Amino acid sequence: MKTFNYDILIIGTGIAGLTTAIKLSEDKSLNIGIITRGKKPEDSNTFWAQGGIILVEEGDPYLSHDVQAASQNTSYQPAIDQLMQSSSKIIKEILIDKAGTQFAKKDSGDFELTQEAAHSIPRILYNGDATGKAIEVSLLNYLEKCSNVDLQTEKTAVDLITPSHHGVEIQQRYEENKVVGAYIFDQNSKEVDKYMAKRVVLATGGIGALYLHHSNSEAARGDGHAMAKRAGATLTNMEYIQFHPTTYFGSSSDRRFLISEAVRGEGGKLVDQTGRRFMEKYHPDAEMAPRDVVSKAIISEMVDNKWDCVYLDITHKDREWLENRFPNIFQYLLERKIDMSQDLIPVVPAAHYTCGGIKTDLRGRTNLKYLYAVGEVACTGLHGINRLASTSLLEGLTWGYKAAEDITATMEDHANFYNSESIRDWSLSKDELDLALINQDIAIIKQTMWNYVGIKRSKNRLHRANAMFSELYEQVQKFYRDAQLHDQLIGLRNSIEIAFVVLSASLRQPE
Ligand SMILES: Cc1cc2nc3c(=O)[nH]c(=O)nc-3n(C[C@H](O)[C@H](O)[C@H](O)COP(=O)(O)OP(=O)(O)OC[C@H]3O[C@@H](n4cnc5c(N)ncnc54)[C@H](O)[C@@H]3O)c2cc1C
Repeated sequence: MKTFNYDILIIGTGIAGLTTAIKLSEDKSLNIGIITRGKKPEDSNTFWAQGGIILVEEGDPYLSHDVQAASQNTSYQPAIDQLMQSSSKIIKEILIDKAGTQFAKKDSGDFELTQEAAHSIPRILYNGDATGKAIEVSLLNYLEKCSNVDLQTEKTAVDLITPSHHGVEIQQRYEENKVVGAYIFDQNSKEVDKYMAKRVVLATGGIGALYLHHSNSEAARGDGHAMAKRAGATLTNMEYIQFHPTTYFGSSSDRRFLISEAVRGEGGKLVDQTGRRFMEKYHPDAEMAPRDVVSKAIISEMVDNKWDCVYLDITHKDREWLENRFPNIFQYLLERKIDMSQDLIPVVPAAHYTCGGIKTDLRGRTNLKYLYAVGEVACTGLHGINRLASTSLLEGLTWGYKAAEDITATMEDHANFYNSESIRDWSLSKDELDLALINQDIAIIKQTMWNYVGIKRSKNRLHRANAMFSELYEQVQKFYRDAQLHDQLIGLRNSIEIAFVVLSASLRQPE
């Protein structure tokens, strides 16, 4: 077992973790570690973001209203205010000036701003339909220049280190609960190492991958949420999962590719396999009804008719127009032998965004001493019960930056590392790992979350899920204690724990 010492340990390399690292790196006295479980650091939800990131221009009188309207007035106003006051300066400093992220521009050289559903005005910076990729790659390129940042891949965080849980002496249990590092599983050596740190920042993203159909990276399995919960941090709003009505339905069980809402905006109709429309019977605005109405309607049709998916029909547009308007979607479908100018596109709703998370303040601080959470893993209150499109990249950027500022400003009050020898070494279990068991358990969680804790959550469905998860939880705990450690096993343990959290939160308000 090795021990690493960093002033700050950041877990996760999406927009939130990278922004924190870049801002912190300005203080050259700090030694910063940033890790990801991915083989490639870009493996994140950030990479897959399509639409864009809001640029709050001075005098935007509608943004606060739009955020509150999308969330049915459940957003936390101070979080909106922080976004309004600080975020454009941060976009300029981190994305434009430092990372040199490319966004669409007009002939005049000014940024071209686009508009999305539920936005009152055009205010979104974008780069084709691959904005997240442009942001992620440019931030990673910039990070390479930061000499005081150590980026490590294929490292899976297992647990946060808190002396009261992991101390070698009974006396340590009486200490104030605080985070002093993390146990990290090295996917290559199969060892669990101690990463001691004066501050730990969780930037591990959302939980979409707990669902059978989801648009997220497979890393979005709730590791950060579960670690924080076990350490004693508060999770909030966990029942509020945002579903996207249309993702591509293929035979693969991997993440589902988003078919942008703009396809419906351009006149695409939802139909069954014979071409019959069905949305008119659910809402007067038919395909343009709010997201949750469209998702629920599709699910009803699928369940009632025992269909695996429904279809989007945009064949009234010609090929050239579609190729120009939706270059990535067009190409993606063509590679799967679907010409969207002639063929129906099979689609299914999918879990898309986690509105709740680890509760933080305006600086990303959690209720646990020395622990910060930023990005989709956190709940700042900005999104309330439903997120306004294109606010999440901006939230990750803004809170990543604010957390870094806070850490730099407060570091002196805790100058020393906690003594690593006072922290227990990880003891590895020896039983041979059976990946088939893990895969089957994960499949059960995803199916159950989708069917019983998904878009429709009746009391009966939730109680059935509760019974299934209770049994599985016990089995997984035993399995986890006895089997050799593996990234997938870590994910399974966290998945069942967080599935339970979403379920319990949902039970408070069944439909
Ligand atoms: C298809 C799609 C389209 C989207 N489009 C938009 C959009 O247009 N505009 C917008 O604002 N938002 C959009 N979003 C949402 C937005 O992309 C995310 O909310 C945001 O990127 C989250 O950033 P993050 O840094 O918090 O997490 P992520 O980018 O998800 O990064 C999480 C990181 O944590 C790492 N990690 C997880 N667990 C562990 C562990 N145990 N140990 C080590 N590392 C770990 C992961 O490997 C990854 O590096 C979209 C999301 C998706 C999926």
